[in-house]
Amino acid sequence: MSIRDNIRRVEDCIADACARAKRDPADIALVAISKQKTAADILEAVEAGLRHFGENRVEEGVEKIPQVNEFCGDRVVWHMVGHVQSRKAKRVVSCFDIVQSVDSLRLARRLSRFAGEAQRRLKVFLEINVSGEASKYGLAGYNWCRDASVRDCLWRDVGAIADLPQLDLRGLMTMAPYDADERAVRRVFADLRALRDAMTVSLDIALPELSMGMTNDYPIAIEEGATTIRIGRAIFGERQ
Ligand SMILES: *Cc1c(COP(=O)(O)O)cnc(C)c1O
Repeated sequence: MSIRDNIRRVEDCIADACARAKRDPADIALVAISKQKTAADILEAVEAGLRHFGENRVEEGVEKIPQVNEFCGDRVVWHMVGHVQSRKAKRVVSCFDIVQSVDSLRLARRLSRFAGEAQRRLKVFLEINVSGEASKYGLAGYNWCRDASVRDCLWRDVGAIADLPQLDLRGLMTMAPYDADERAVRRVFADLRALRDAMTVSLDIALPELSMGMTNDYPIAIEEGATTIRIGRAIFGERQ
């Protein structure tokens, strides 16, 4: 299967999930996660019509993004989806258009500062750990609905991040447990959506984007309200 064929298959699955959920496929951004793949692979996906690409490591992005941009310039929007150490914030701002993996107030402050120095506004999503797995990054969101102390911390950090002048806070991102059953995955996605709705009201901020769903679970994510899905293997094949 070529990358182009893979993309068509993913688009068909998106259309099916949208039909089930009575949603418009135009409302869902497909971000191709190109980690460990070459610039040539990415250009093939661009040729097949994709516009959004995501990387999870700063060094890898810094190396590949200029290679791809040389050929397609402004056509491509680059998303950072992996954990960013604060000391790498400046490099992220210089290469990426959107950071989906903002997981601390400290990182958000640094991104805002460097975006200011570069005289731009940076689009960001907040990564929330709603599943509670210790291995996951993200602002702590497990059990937010029942645990007032979790909620207080979240509201305080998100309120402060929303006030940062150079950041354009677009929404929330999460990852479901990798090998959980469908019900557990669905619960995580529904929980992120409910959290978004609660924050929107309590903090009086707009959070239109919900980034959730990967190769294993994106049809479920679409049914639960995802506006951005992040697909790697279903487009580029298995990784090493
Ligand atoms: C790798 C990765 C993806 C894509 O995962 P696939 O299973 O290859 O679709 C999505 N989001 C993040 C944050 C990732 O690191």
